[in-house]
Amino acid sequence: MSTFHIWTLGCQMNQADSLKLAAGLEQLGYHAVEDDLEADLVVINTCSVRQHAEDRAYSRMGMLKKRRSLGGEFKLAVMGCMVGPKTDDLRKRFPYVDVWARPQEFDGILQVAGDYRDVSEGELGTLLGGAEGDTHTFQMAQGTYGLPKGPTAYVPVIHGCDKFCTYCIVPLRRGREDSRPAADILDEVRFLAEHGVREVTLLGQTVEAYGHDLDADANGERPDLATLFEGIDRIDGISRVRFLTSYPKDMTDRIIDAVADQPKVCEHFNIPVQSGSESMLARMRRGYTVAMFEERVARIRSRMPDAAIVTDVIVGCPGETEEEFADTVALLERTEFDIIHVAAYSPRPGTYAARNMPDDVPAEVKKARLQVVEAIHAASSERINQRALGREVEVLIEQSESGRSTGRTRQGQLVHFDAMGPVGSRLGTLVDVEISAVTPWSLQGRLAGSLSLSVL
Ligand code: SF4
Repeated sequence: MSTFHIWTLGCQMNQADSLKLAAGLEQLGYHAVEDDLEADLVVINTCSVRQHAEDRAYSRMGMLKKRRSLGGEFKLAVMGCMVGPKTDDLRKRFPYVDVWARPQEFDGILQVAGDYRDVSEGELGTLLGGAEGDTHTFQMAQGTYGLPKGPTAYVPVIHGCDKFCTYCIVPLRRGREDSRPAADILDEVRFLAEHGVREVTLLGQTVEAYGHDLDADANGERPDLATLFEGIDRIDGISRVRFLTSYPKDMTDRIIDAVADQPKVCEHFNIPVQSGSESMLARMRRGYTVAMFEERVARIRSRMPDAAIVTDVIVGCPGETEEEFADTVALLERTEFDIIHVAAYSPRPGTYAARNMPDDVPAEVKKARLQVVEAIHAASSERINQRALGREVEVLIEQSESGRSTGRTRQGQLVHFDAMGPVGSRLGTLVDVEISAVTPWSLQGRLAGSLSLSVL
């Protein structure tokens, strides 16, 4: 039996890609191993959003090169956002890598894996969907979704991004927006539901862009994210739907209303603001103003007062002044986000910012601004979690071990509670938990005793 190990860096989209590749490898007769020392095929699924993530991949590749030079026999594949449309430079710099694969384009890896195991041409052709280069066919081919490993699953609905924010490498590596047909997505969700999944998260770099590039139907209507919500609402077995990442300009009233009106869709928004300064947003070419962002947040909160709103912020972008950073601080304080993911700017080669905007904010200033945002995050998360004290919250159980279960609320908060009996430990079950203690990062409580929905 041949073995593989996939090391995944970066976002949920990468995690979804790795699961799909793993499913393809399993169909070729491979099985996954925890330790890459035991693997015949090692895959590194890379992230380029920040220099730190690329450095980690380079460091791992260096270790594998050393192992190869000491006689280690394995194939090495590198996939994901570090791999652009042209790989000549990468091939020259890293000649020991056997195969390079762009995000979602795994066929080359499966080909190498198939050759290594002497899988017949016919078998490989079936797995690849019989259409050379058609990666969608591979992903959609019946049976290649991969059996889910738990009650939650990621479902990519749109690949790529058309926004070209000045600092961001994603459109250059993942290509333009490319929506999957709605029927394929609903088929995949049905398949997942039949195999025990109760919560799906619909993924896209800008998930509300879903459908922009699809043909209109006979009535002249184009599917959008709300269309997917409606379709999934009718699929038996699915209890919850999440979606990320949002882009303020694409977030229509129709989509916000669908989140409010569809019972399975969780009121949990991930909307990166990136900066609270008008001039900084303009230099980032984010395509919206602070006022537009705040108007979207106000609309969400007027329809769903309990909605969780998570955001991303980048500090220390080229030319960021004290005043611009103060505007960001003011926005974060008046909005009170549930979670703030903060990162210090690092130039990504190939982007507009790396070519045209000097990285002129000193490292110590970036670090200090990072700490200011982290402190605002900790304070607002704690305040929001405190409001759950003494209340009953609906939790979908994701893990259960040694009498303790863990799951998430509809707003995405992590909840730990005593399992108490078969119901409290059954993965994928929705239970009510009474919250008795909170930290900024999680809630703790006990089973309230009644199921909020049917036990599936
Ligand atoms: S919206 Fe901007 S930051 Fe987000 S993936 Fe697209 S280019 Fe990158």
